[in-house]
Amino acid sequence: AKASGRGRVESFTDELGASQRRRITIERELREALARNELVVHYQPQVDLRTWTIRSAEALVRWNHPTLGSVSPSEFVPVAEETGLIHNIGAWVLAKACSDARHLLPDLRIAVNASAAQVQRAGFVNELRQLLNRYELKPSQLEVEITESLLMEDIAVALENLHAIKQLGVRIALDDFGTGYSSLAYLRRFPFDKLKIDRAFIRELLSTSDARAIVRTILQLARVLGMDTVAEGVEEPAQLEVLSHVGCAAIQGFLVARPMPAEQLVDLIARWDSL
Ligand code: C2E
Ligand code: CA
Ligand code: CA
Ligand code: CA
Repeated sequence: AKASGRGRVESFTDELGASQRRRITIERELREALARNELVVHYQPQVDLRTWTIRSAEALVRWNHPTLGSVSPSEFVPVAEETGLIHNIGAWVLAKACSDARHLLPDLRIAVNASAAQVQRAGFVNELRQLLNRYELKPSQLEVEITESLLMEDIAVALENLHAIKQLGVRIALDDFGTGYSSLAYLRRFPFDKLKIDRAFIRELLSTSDARAIVRTILQLARVLGMDTVAEGVEEPAQLEVLSHVGCAAIQGFLVARPMPAEQLVDLIARWDSL
């Protein structure tokens, strides 16, 4: 019993060691990822439920490393945030998304994820303004997705920057809505154009009446506050069915398409009307 007990402890520390080593490798390699051209941006379409057309798409960063393979943003974005690398990576994603919006996807609104640290930087709004000029984009073609974590930090700075973004004419979406801590008061104080209903509620939509009630309530709230809505992570036709019925404005999820390179999205949109 003693021996197996020690074995468990050892394998536990081995595992801890392995995950620490992985973290260190990720950090070291991430520092070189931009210079080595290993990052790419994929796009996932959002479908308007009233017209069944693709009006917008979310930009999602991808990292293809020569030996680590494809590393998920769920793993490397937090590392980028902790190390400050998110500023360079985020600026690159934003510029790439603007370039694609200009050259490949001129008829779509492109939503770009922004980390709290990015939006809090004083230069962020200027960076947006310069990109809009450089790529000759209408401000409304761009949407910035933020999460509630931004609202938890320095409220005053966050408010100021969000209002400046809004003033530029760039749209603001509140991501993963329903999972954070924001009180309803925030929704009135911050200039959100869109609420993205978190996948957790969509996943439970068919199995629990709670999730259904929450989604209904979020949609009512959005309507009253004049905000647009999109349901995230829609995978099944039956979920789409419910969401149309309760008046959700748009859906995003594997049911429609996985995130893909801009060129593929161009093809999908070209074929869309005949699908
Ligand atoms: P998110 O912003 O909530 O993005 C949605 C995630 O859900 C994406 O994962 C997408 O591929 C996935 N997804 C979409 N439809 C479905 C579905 O039907 N089922 C399931 N199971 N998943 C679906 P991804 O691309 O792995 O990104 C994970 C997270 O990494 C994002 O969550 C976002 O928080 C972060 N992220 C991605 N790109 C960026 C970026 O450029 N900047 C920043 N700051 N964060 C990013
Ligand atoms: Ca997002
Ligand atoms: Ca989300
Ligand atoms: Ca998320």
